[in-house]
Amino acid sequence: MTNKARHPRAAAGSLGELPAVHQVLEHPRLAALRGRVDHAYLVEEVQACLDAFRRILRQDANRTVPKLEAVAEEARERVERWFEPKLQPVINLTGTLLHTNLGRAPLSRAAVEAMREARDTVNLEYDLKKGRRGDRDSLVEELLCRLTGAEAATVVNNNAAAVYLVLNALANRRRVAVSRGELVEIGDGFRMPDIVRKSGCKLVEVGTTNRTHLADYKQALDDGARLLLKVHTSNYKIEGFVHEVPLRELARLGRRHQVPVVVDLGSGALVDLVRWGLSGEPTVRDVVDTGADLITFSGDKLLGGPQAGLVVGRGKWVRRVKRNPMKRALRCDKFRLAALEATLRAYLSPETLEKSLPTYRMIARSVEEIEALATEVRDQVERWAAGRAQVEVIAGHTQVGSGSLPGAKLPTHLIALTPSRGGVKALERELRTLHPPVIGRIHGGKVLLDMRCLMAPEPLLNALAAAGGRTG
Ligand SMILES: *Cc1c(COP(=O)(O)O)cnc(C)c1O
Repeated sequence: MTNKARHPRAAAGSLGELPAVHQVLEHPRLAALRGRVDHAYLVEEVQACLDAFRRILRQDANRTVPKLEAVAEEARERVERWFEPKLQPVINLTGTLLHTNLGRAPLSRAAVEAMREARDTVNLEYDLKKGRRGDRDSLVEELLCRLTGAEAATVVNNNAAAVYLVLNALANRRRVAVSRGELVEIGDGFRMPDIVRKSGCKLVEVGTTNRTHLADYKQALDDGARLLLKVHTSNYKIEGFVHEVPLRELARLGRRHQVPVVVDLGSGALVDLVRWGLSGEPTVRDVVDTGADLITFSGDKLLGGPQAGLVVGRGKWVRRVKRNPMKRALRCDKFRLAALEATLRAYLSPETLEKSLPTYRMIARSVEEIEALATEVRDQVERWAAGRAQVEVIAGHTQVGSGSLPGAKLPTHLIALTPSRGGVKALERELRTLHPPVIGRIHGGKVLLDMRCLMAPEPLLNALAAAGGRTG
């Protein structure tokens, strides 16, 4: 009883002690918002805020009823949050260069400039010579054909869309043969069998998980398959007693039966990565030369450009794909085509890719350069983590990611933080609260920050310094 006298309790009756909506709205703390947000939105948020307080008070009888000032402050903060961009830069130090959750390939300066140039009206689908409707694919088709040796090309939203559209356009209601060894899940539940079925095709699984022979495909063709699909198993590797049919043989078989052979290449490198110590990724040109009829690949994986799905190959099949009504539903907007065009142009000079495309700048970095970066950053990390973690520079490996080059690893240096108090999770989380957030990874009781992934040291140094100043 005496307790109750000292603390206003939130018994059912005391909910009435919460301020009224109009009192909160008129509070000086909300004054600055009045010109920026429509009155109706403010009213809704204040009501939502009061509802939230009411819920808390009902759940917890020990809570004191908040004062008008506190409610107004809470409402102000809730409305202020509407103005904070949800999409924000982060520093990817995860050890995965092309991180799907972090937007994959960073764009080149030229790509960003091209998007800026495209902000007003552009000849997106307008033939300037003829003065009439044009074809948006023509903005990148010539470059794509030159760089890959293909006859024709088209572009859609992403590679998943490209696979879907190609299958739907060439084999709707028909059978599509895929090796059991290639029925992959790409990530986040995106599974090849699902996309084949959703595109209207009947999936015919051929061979076994580890071995598929030409005779298996022949059998599928005899059973009525109208498309042979080969999927580049881009995020895993089977080793041991394995056999897959070389594309050259599959292409020959397809031609003999007048059935298109389609390759979902996934990453789609335009240059041989061997010069950077990465082997096993065929270039798109290799696949074109080997005889595939159509090849699909992503714009934001090893190409180093914006999200897009590229389809290159024989003119006859590309025309069929472009005529499909779903092409319109899956097409790219002017900004992505602008960025893609600028990105593709960088490949006209493959020798300077490391300068023109950030993805290749990071792939090409020497271990010595990475070590120098680690040394440059280390002290600031140490100051930030003072008293909470021990900081050291260790050797490690970076993966390319986004289903590119499974198993391929690039040597790197990592800044490793071993917490001396608090857990490793708390430390990792705290790095995510910096401005911009720093995303590392947890491994073996340490938070690891991969320096090969670091685009430039300044934003990281500044983020650490700013937080170091606050937390002492
Ligand atoms: C990544 C990938 C896809 C999906 O590409 P998105 O551009 O992410 O839609 C499809 N197939 C393969 C083999 C891939 O590696």
